[in-house]
Amino acid sequence: MSKKYVYLFSEGNANMRELLGGKGANLAEMTNLGLPVPQGFTVTTEACTRYHEDGQKIASEIVDEIYAAMEKVEKIVGKKFGDLENPFLVSVRSGARASMPGMMDTILNLGLNDVAVKGLAKQTNNERFAYDSYRRFIQMFSDVVMEIDKTKFDAILDDVKEKNGAKADTDLTAENLKEVVERYKELYKKEMGNDFPQDPKVQLLESVKAVFRSWNNPRAIVYRRLNDIPGDWGTAVNVQAMVFGNMGDDSGTGVAFTRDPSTGEKKLYGEYLMNAQGEDVVAGIRTPEPISHLQNTLPEIYDQFVNIAQKLEDHYRDMQDMEFTIEKGKLYMLQTRNGKRTAKAALKIAVDLVNEGKLTKEEALLKVEPKQLDALLHPAFDPKALKAADPIAKGLPASPGAAAGQIYFTAEEAVEAGKNGQKVILVRLETSPEDIEGMHVAEGILTGRGGMTSHAAVVARGMGRCCVAGCSELTINETEKYFIAKGKKYNEGDFISLDGSTGYVYGESIATQPPAVSGDFATFMEWADATRTLKVMTNADTPKDAAQAVKFGAEGIGLCRTEHMFFDETRIPAVREMIVARTEEQRRKALAKLLPIQKGDFKGLYEAMEGRPVTVRLLDPPLHEFLPHEDDDIQDLAKEMGLDFEELKGIVQSLQEFNPMLGHRGCRLAVTYPEIAEMQARAIIEAAIEVKQEKGYDIVPEIMVPLVGEVKEFSYVKEAIDKAAKAAMEDKGVDIDYKVGTMIEVPRAALTADEIAKEAEFFSFGTNDMTQMTFGFSRDDAGKFLEDYYSKSIFESDPFAKLDQKGVGKLVNMAVELAKPVNPEIKLGICGEHGGDPSSVEFCHNIGLNYVSCSPYRVPIARLAAAQARVKEILNK
Ligand code: ADP
Ligand code: MG
Ligand code: MG
Repeated sequence: MSKKYVYLFSEGNANMRELLGGKGANLAEMTNLGLPVPQGFTVTTEACTRYHEDGQKIASEIVDEIYAAMEKVEKIVGKKFGDLENPFLVSVRSGARASMPGMMDTILNLGLNDVAVKGLAKQTNNERFAYDSYRRFIQMFSDVVMEIDKTKFDAILDDVKEKNGAKADTDLTAENLKEVVERYKELYKKEMGNDFPQDPKVQLLESVKAVFRSWNNPRAIVYRRLNDIPGDWGTAVNVQAMVFGNMGDDSGTGVAFTRDPSTGEKKLYGEYLMNAQGEDVVAGIRTPEPISHLQNTLPEIYDQFVNIAQKLEDHYRDMQDMEFTIEKGKLYMLQTRNGKRTAKAALKIAVDLVNEGKLTKEEALLKVEPKQLDALLHPAFDPKALKAADPIAKGLPASPGAAAGQIYFTAEEAVEAGKNGQKVILVRLETSPEDIEGMHVAEGILTGRGGMTSHAAVVARGMGRCCVAGCSELTINETEKYFIAKGKKYNEGDFISLDGSTGYVYGESIATQPPAVSGDFATFMEWADATRTLKVMTNADTPKDAAQAVKFGAEGIGLCRTEHMFFDETRIPAVREMIVARTEEQRRKALAKLLPIQKGDFKGLYEAMEGRPVTVRLLDPPLHEFLPHEDDDIQDLAKEMGLDFEELKGIVQSLQEFNPMLGHRGCRLAVTYPEIAEMQARAIIEAAIEVKQEKGYDIVPEIMVPLVGEVKEFSYVKEAIDKAAKAAMEDKGVDIDYKVGTMIEVPRAALTADEIAKEAEFFSFGTNDMTQMTFGFSRDDAGKFLEDYYSKSIFESDPFAKLDQKGVGKLVNMAVELAKPVNPEIKLGICGEHGGDPSSVEFCHNIGLNYVSCSPYRVPIARLAAAQARVKEILNK
């Protein structure tokens, strides 16, 4: 049997979202629930994939299926598509599996042409409505399908409005709108070289193709990369009978959430506009009314809507985001989906739904995106600094959080400034999908127009970015790059601050302070901890970071990088002395100076960790990183060290390498200079003994050898460590347990993991170096060409941020499988950047690692990701 590419809404259901996309599956589900949904059909995601496989063509069998479905829908609505007297109009709506708001555009009122518009006017006895619908259709079709710049149409509309003294689009008369239509068609002809297509079938097929094409537009590709959506999913297309919110004052359109998407509060939340269509609400062309207002104006509709909202939330057992239209006093549902929400709202809703008995704790754990927690792990304004500041304006509190930075008025300039390390506030009249990268780099977003469901607000909440929207008190001039607030001018580059929770804008940079885990957040994280089996450690080199990580729930230090301790002004002289030493004796003398300093560092860490395990990695970077390279600096250092300039310069040059990342570093340093490893091991052991004596913490230090590729390297360094540890314990007259293990980061180490596992007590996968060495490209240079890889769809994500499970992950998995049989007790973990990336954490859980280690601020994210991995595992069983 051949594949079915088109489904009527009545043939689908919510479980078919892979095939029908989220919108299509939910339209089908609402149809099954008996809700008032205008009928239609869905062209599947497989048809989209097929379209691209077939060289951007729709196969004739798919076309036939579309027409057949159209005939069935015609029977349901009792009108004919292409009829000139009583035309059946449809919308064409894209809908991917995961919602991609604003990424792919919708076409409304399709099926109209020069003759049918007259039929519609007569049939409805509403000429104004007919021409309003036609002008909208021409503009949307031209924009979405033909890619004619939308603003050219806006300019015509504005001109007609101005000429006729119309304030809003609703003030335009039928005659005015006829003029708009005529001028739109002229513009179309000028741009395209031919007339606006009059055949509804052509209009339909061209629109379907445009939706398929839009799956691969640059905006969609960027959005997918930022949101981990695979490129091969494709989008479905929904063709749906039109209902009209623009038929007059008894008609309208709106959006609503079953709970407040900013705070999570349980109350219907939304906005609507009367005599409007489609995305008028979202686009901010007029100021919408709050949904509660509908209770006064159309109480019956309001009650019906409240009932439906409750029914949908109960059915989906999650907060719903719904779109509706009222046509001449009759309510229609056009969309429902699990609503996007801020991290704070997500936590409250998850905890509330458990308390309301609607979800189990395990199910609730899946309702919060781990990455979202990031928004709660970042600073809020320091209350004292905030008190001293006076707001210069107030907008809508569209996405909570605090942000301070320099203002930029275009997405491109924001991106540039971000690259220069500046903190950026993106200021726009309103945002559009083109601005997405600028919004991503920004600390906060400020817009002059648009409501709580405007593009800026929705996207910012999704990203966890602070956003103040619709700040109409500001006069924003995007072209000349300034805004005016309370009579004062703020230019590009000036500092401002935004409070996304109150909507206040401040004309200065306000100090911020670190976040805390409390309330719903704490409750939720307790559930996560009770569920997960994967341990979460942190990467920390200072007591301050370590203490922060403990506050965020870290169970130990998985990676302490000792080199960071050496750069401090007070210690670098001794480090340099060690490096330039000519003999072992000189080197040991310098190392003896470093010993007490290192010991102090480790004691500080052990104390901050209060007895939790601490893994310390031996010195890793090439030694030349600690020396100056400019002649002037070498001169100064030579003087300081009592050396001859030429001699020191010679040493510096002798340490220079063509490819330092593949050079004399990691365990290779300890092979050449075992005394360095000895000093570090002694400091680690002595610190543990002293902290035990002073504070009573039982510490089992773990000493980690970096960059091993051959078991003999490891054995050699381990011997030096054991010798130093023994000496330290003899000196102190105390025996303690300690472990020696290795990083697995050189591909050869993974390939020979069975040999290494016989000797090592733990493996820590260093997936940063391992990614670098497996792909064969340097982490410091890859940024230059990875952008091309994304835009050409060769890579979908940054392999340094999200573990490449196919390649690098295969090596990790192989090492695990080689190691376990020879050393069943071996402790396995990961300490690269990937340790805080949710999908990578899930991978680590699935291949049976014991822990992940990540930076302190990502610890809660990893805890939740680990819990979700466990819940998914249980559900799959
Ligand atoms: P998006 O994914 O960007 O939200 P939609 O496909 O939901 O795009 O369409 C946007 C809006 O267009 C809807 O919220 C609704 O107001 C309007 N719309 C879409 N289809 C119809 C229809 N058949 N009848 C009336 N309005 C429609
Ligand atoms: Mg849209
Ligand atoms: Mg929608």
